[in-house]
Amino acid sequence: MIEPKEIIRTNRKSLAITIDENGNLIVHAPKQMPLYDIIGFIEKKQKWIDKKSSEVKSTLSKNKNIVQYNEIFFLGKRYKVVETVGVDFPYLTENTLLIEKCKSQKKKQNLLQNWYLRNFEAVIMPRFEKLIKFMKQKYTSVKVINSKAKWGMCDSKKNLYYNWKLLMLSPDIIDYVIIHEISHLIELNHSKKFWSIVGAVLPNYKQIKEVLNKCGFLIKLY
Ligand SMILES: [Zn+2]
Repeated sequence: MIEPKEIIRTNRKSLAITIDENGNLIVHAPKQMPLYDIIGFIEKKQKWIDKKSSEVKSTLSKNKNIVQYNEIFFLGKRYKVVETVGVDFPYLTENTLLIEKCKSQKKKQNLLQNWYLRNFEAVIMPRFEKLIKFMKQKYTSVKVINSKAKWGMCDSKKNLYYNWKLLMLSPDIIDYVIIHEISHLIELNHSKKFWSIVGAVLPNYKQIKEVLNKCGFLIKLY
């Protein structure tokens, strides 16, 4: 049996299990629930837990170089990160991103993050402008966010937020997230009506959503 890495007890009413970005089992339980009930539940869900956990672990091992910042994803394509002296600005070639030699891993991450951020305006904004026009919606502002949890957000004041890490994903997934948030300008929830708005623009959104779910390890980077 896979042992839970953490049992988080809160005021919630029911038990929930999740697999985190490293393939660990995390349990969310009501404050008073006896431990044997929790264990019983985990045992019943063992098949699901094993499957999910090994999926996450195999994604991580396939993407070891990404997780260690020796390779990056840019618009869904993989590039090798090559450090060399005398590179004033990161330079993208067919298969490589050339960057200045970094003194530490942290410096390298900062450099890569800044490079992504500089691309945000040029890559995400034109796609956004096109889609918002197509969906005929009014909004207040669009902002870039740096989040380990959210690819995008929309608030009740019609401000839209997009994570710069979207730049790692392929264009069809980027468009899905852009459309998802624009649809929240009409429906600020995940009701049936909301998904029908998304589906009207992007009929295959369910498949794209499934691929996006497997990209959780990317949002945890940086
Ligand atoms: Zn949403």
